[in-house]
Amino acid sequence: MTVALYPGTFDPPTLGHLDIVQRGVRLFDRVVIAVGARIDKQTLLTPEQRVELLRETVAGLENCEVVPFEGLIVNFAREQGADVLLRGIRNSTDYEYESQMALTNRRLAPGLETVFLPASPDHTFLSSTLIKEVLAAGGAIEEFVPGVVAKALRDAWQR
Ligand code: ADP
Repeated sequence: MTVALYPGTFDPPTLGHLDIVQRGVRLFDRVVIAVGARIDKQTLLTPEQRVELLRETVAGLENCEVVPFEGLIVNFAREQGADVLLRGIRNSTDYEYESQMALTNRRLAPGLETVFLPASPDHTFLSSTLIKEVLAAGGAIEEFVPGVVAKALRDAWQR
């Protein structure tokens, strides 16, 4: 049984993240989405909101679950019994950063492999940061995120 941990901030979850999850559940026996609560990163949505939105988004996927995490990802992966860290790659900038992180994690936890999935062509341009900028400027974000997420973003922004 191969368990993949898909860590990220997911502020907000996008259709790009969802695509990686949908492909991940076909490749691995179980995919655990780990939602990071990073104190060094200012987020629009709370960790609880991000976990809840992802749970609603992946409700139809049997071998997928969503959990919050803090601290070092390799330690959390061990706790979860994960064999693989799953990450998405959109472009060469992602690749630079992700490969550096993968090598660091490999030193920290030698048995844990990182698997990269290339973003689907329809989603390579999607980024949580840009979606927040569009939202802040009053633009439509509906085609970039799952429906439940779009609603939560509008509510979060109006508060
Ligand atoms: P982090 O703060 O860890 O970078 P993100 O929530 O931004 O977390 O992203 C989590 C993972 O999803 C990363 O591997 C990132 O490269 C990947 N990702 C982000 N956006 C997309 C996308 N549009 N398509 C595919 N993968 C993506």
